[in-house]
Amino acid sequence: MILIDGKKVAAELRKELKQEVTELKAKHNKVPGLTVILIGDLTPSQIYVKNKEKSANEVGLKSEVIKYPDSVEEKTVLEKIQDLNNDETVSGILVQLPLPKHIDKQKVIEAIDPSKDVDGFHPMNVGNLSSGYESSIPCTPLGCYLLIKKFEPNLSGKKAVVVGRSNLNGKPMTQLLLKENCTVTITHSKTKDLKAECLEADIIVAAVGIPELVRGDWVKKDAIVIDVGINKTDNGIVGDVHFDEVSKNAKALTPVPGGVGPMTIACLLKNTIDCFKRSQI
Ligand code: NAP
Repeated sequence: MILIDGKKVAAELRKELKQEVTELKAKHNKVPGLTVILIGDLTPSQIYVKNKEKSANEVGLKSEVIKYPDSVEEKTVLEKIQDLNNDETVSGILVQLPLPKHIDKQKVIEAIDPSKDVDGFHPMNVGNLSSGYESSIPCTPLGCYLLIKKFEPNLSGKKAVVVGRSNLNGKPMTQLLLKENCTVTITHSKTKDLKAECLEADIIVAAVGIPELVRGDWVKKDAIVIDVGINKTDNGIVGDVHFDEVSKNAKALTPVPGGVGPMTIACLLKNTIDCFKRSQI
């Protein structure tokens, strides 16, 4: 079994992005800018945002974090997004989720100019992705896609099973695999026989949020298995895939941590640079 080392692939991608930022700076005399809005003091969100800022700085992006207390009014956030939409030095805007209950997530997502939507959550980008047009692609599925492609460049005709149908992961993942001419099955909590579906798959992407749901005898020999899950358990952080069991069957598997996670942040940087490049045309 081959361990798909997301840490290594993400480091390679960051190196390429750093080079690209240097070239863009020489050509345009400015660098792409990423602005993150962080509301409240949830510890995981603070850690994510800190890591995003650190990585953005590392590759040479202009990076800014705007912080609001939990009590901030929705109107204030929407007005700030409008300002950022109009600010030419800002290439990408990300509002860290989850949001406090009194703020309408969909309103916030739709307030972001689709051309600066580095999360790829705006309905315009969701539509463009599913129609096969150029769009920002949500960072985690984009990271999964790049890992799969690195390992197996030609996916045409492969059978893929995506476990989970969230807007964040499962649905965009399905679109990316379809674009590569995979035959894709998307499964969810009402799927009758998940094991039988997984056993058909050449590629499994698990994005569920249930520790070690995908077992060794669910995976056919030579499958590529991508584990998106990050689950806190008494035994530490585990994925949605039973690593020890599945590693005995699969051809390739991502570890948790060190698989999809590092790719997510690298893809946020990639999306910011891509938004900048499109804005310069
Ligand atoms: P989510 O929004 O909670 O969606 C979970 C999906 O799993 C839903 O579609 C749900 O089906 C499905 N599901 C639940 N129980 C199931 C079962 N028994 N069998 C099959 N499907 C089932 O989760 P998410 O935001 O996509 O996140 C999934 C996991 O990825 C979490 O562990 C999260 O922490 C992790 N994550 C990791 C990264 C990263 O960078 N690595 C980024 C984001 C998320 P229904 O639609 O029927 O409810």
